[in-house]
Amino acid sequence: MKALVWMHRDLRLADHPALAHASRMALDVEVVWSWSDAVHGAWMPGAAARWWLHEHLLEVAAGLARLGIRFTVTDGSPQAALTERLRDGKVQAVFWNEPITPHARKTASDMTRLLDRAGVRHQVFQGDLLHDPDAIRTGKGDPYRVFTPFWRSFQEQVPAPGVTAAPGNHPERPEIDPARAEAVCSAIHALQLVPDHPWVDKLRRHWTPGEAAAQARLGAFLDGPVDQYAEGRDQPSEDGTSRMSPWLAVGAISPRQIWTRAMERAAEGSIQAFLREIGWREFGYHLLYHFPATTAAPLNPSWIGFPWKEDPEGLARWAHGRTGFAMVDAGMRQLWETGWMHNRVRMIVASFLTKDLLINWQEGAAWFWDTLIDADLASNTLGWQWAAGSGADAQPFFRIFNPTTQGERHDPHGIYVRRWVPERQGRPGKAVHAPIHPMVDHDEARKRALAVYEAHRRGQR
Ligand code: FAD
Repeated sequence: MKALVWMHRDLRLADHPALAHASRMALDVEVVWSWSDAVHGAWMPGAAARWWLHEHLLEVAAGLARLGIRFTVTDGSPQAALTERLRDGKVQAVFWNEPITPHARKTASDMTRLLDRAGVRHQVFQGDLLHDPDAIRTGKGDPYRVFTPFWRSFQEQVPAPGVTAAPGNHPERPEIDPARAEAVCSAIHALQLVPDHPWVDKLRRHWTPGEAAAQARLGAFLDGPVDQYAEGRDQPSEDGTSRMSPWLAVGAISPRQIWTRAMERAAEGSIQAFLREIGWREFGYHLLYHFPATTAAPLNPSWIGFPWKEDPEGLARWAHGRTGFAMVDAGMRQLWETGWMHNRVRMIVASFLTKDLLINWQEGAAWFWDTLIDADLASNTLGWQWAAGSGADAQPFFRIFNPTTQGERHDPHGIYVRRWVPERQGRPGKAVHAPIHPMVDHDEARKRALAVYEAHRRGQR
């Protein structure tokens, strides 16, 4: 029997229920992955994420080859790849894990129709989320829009997850021959995912692709930093968070693997704060599933028509870390150097863009999309709409972060700022956070933002 597995952003061998099922059912298994806007819509991975994806695809190709599982990478839609594979009548079953992003869901339903018409068995598994977004609802049967009650229901209703082992070496399944393995690597290179820019070499210094690297990093985090996570997660100078997000973004690790290992390894008391953050990722997907339009429009309709400023120069200064505010510049430079930014600093830079500069959150989300290796449609949309005040459970617009006092609180010794903004290295103590030639006066910008917000609200009544 021949079985196909469609992978999308769940590129891994372990804890992949569709792959595990296919390899139990069939000797001849082929995994298909397609680089296509049918899967991503307007959100094709950005430059940093494409480099990361490229590296990870090579890892997946090597892992599957060792198991004797064929891997096909296509430059076209999954629907087209499937149609071609059904032509000779040999494929008897097709399996995949349920995707959550809007275009991938549409692709999945097209594939279901195609397979029904062809009379080929198919089965869908849950692999990328801990909760089923259709099953968790408010008392009125609506989707959740506020995190705390969502998290309460989640904890009450979602059972502790189990994980599926990676397929083993089947004695009758021969290794993939080297020529075929080489052809898969060539197909990956032919996609030209890696941007032709020396910037990529910086990213390489910070991140190691693949499932083994993800597991190693998780182990290191659970062996120590997790114990101080509740406080450490707000100190960007410390290596106090898991840094799982890049591996999660390509599927190199699943939330179930993280949850299960965390429960096994860490002391109960230290772990709740960490699991709650995994809960925020679930909440982001819950929102994306039920409100797919929010990637490009405010969830809260009262924000439609908000008079954001057109300010390309301000946007460029923000993006390149030249605002004159220490924490904002440090965060944006950390992003540029490493493809990642600490969560506390993401909140500070997002507040600065949307409130001090009054620039549309979508401009910030687009820059993050292009420069983050962990770019994730659900979490990025959630984070930006939260910061702007237009989303679910949003930060109220009138709560405007002061970037200087945020720095004093979350980087009291200036270690983070000095690391990323070398021109501030000579500044002693808290003075490291004082604005230098700031592009706006924060107090004035705050008043202006509040006035614009009030006028917009009045206009809506
Ligand atoms: P940890 O603190 O170790 O948390 C573990 C995991 O929990 C993370 O890997 C992530 O999957 C999840 N998580 C943690 N915080 C959040 C959160 N606030 N929202 C949703 N999930 C969370 N995260 C992305 O993965 N991709 C993005 O594109 C993204 N864009 C963001 C944009 C803005 C404006 C903001 C404010 C936040 C954004 N986040 C995004 C969420 C968060 O900043 C990152 O998930 C986190 O910094 C990743 O670091 P970590 O893995 O060390 O997190």
